[in-house]
Amino acid sequence: NMIYFNGEYVEDQITISPDDRGYQFGDGIYEVIRVYNGKLFTAKEHFERLLRSAEEIKIELKLTVADYIAICERLVKENQVETGNIYVQVTRGNAVRNHIFPESSEPVTFIYSYGSERPVQGMREGIKVITADDIRWLRCDIKSLNLLGNVLNKQKAHEAGAAEAIQIRDGIVTEGASSNAYIVKDGAIYTHPTDNLILNGITRQVIKQCAEENHIPFVEKTFGMDELLAADEVLMSSVSIEVTPVIQIDDRTFNVGPVTRQLQAAFEEKISSL
Ligand code: PMP
Repeated sequence: NMIYFNGEYVEDQITISPDDRGYQFGDGIYEVIRVYNGKLFTAKEHFERLLRSAEEIKIELKLTVADYIAICERLVKENQVETGNIYVQVTRGNAVRNHIFPESSEPVTFIYSYGSERPVQGMREGIKVITADDIRWLRCDIKSLNLLGNVLNKQKAHEAGAAEAIQIRDGIVTEGASSNAYIVKDGAIYTHPTDNLILNGITRQVIKQCAEENHIPFVEKTFGMDELLAADEVLMSSVSIEVTPVIQIDDRTFNVGPVTRQLQAAFEEKISSL
């Protein structure tokens, strides 16, 4: 399997230094990009987000959006990925351990691909989720390698026999541990606005576009636990789960509704027209 590593293409293995700040501080950023039918989906949007994350934490990237896309296309071709993912990671680089940024360090970048089937069962039947305190930091808009808050809540969900955790901060629903969260009420979709408390999901951007094209109101407004539990439909989204309905939150059950089905159909159209 071909891997891109700091400007070169290598087979199977790369060597990461113990001084990599990604290991010591989680001092880096990442992206996960979907491949459908051997083609990259919304790659430009992903790399624009990577550039933004880099800027927010002051990592100077050497590559442009077009460079990154060309690397991904080469990996998809060489590794013959049909349905799968591309994982991109950039850290601040290697330096003797010190919280302060090194005077000079080259970013360490690797990009690899792997096959991964679409989440058909969850999309068709819906998933069970739990609610959990959002214990993350206050810059959830940066797609940073620091994922402990997300990991702990995802594990909590897993141990409860659930697929995802809907996180709540100060009584407000923010997002999932690795997905965005939405409710449908009286035909309109509601989701947390894109501020520092959530990641601006690329799938969320596609869903917003699908909603607009289908004349479904897309309202970026916060909502609390009461509104969550009183929703007509609940759904979650990410590159990995696409548009997935929620059929249970803690002890409360929900039906998969028509707005979710309409969004799924519209999303499928976007994939087909790649
Ligand atoms: N929020 C969080 C915390 C995530 O980790 C993810 C997955 N990267 C998302 C939302 C969804 O983002 P995307 O649609 O770009 O996968």
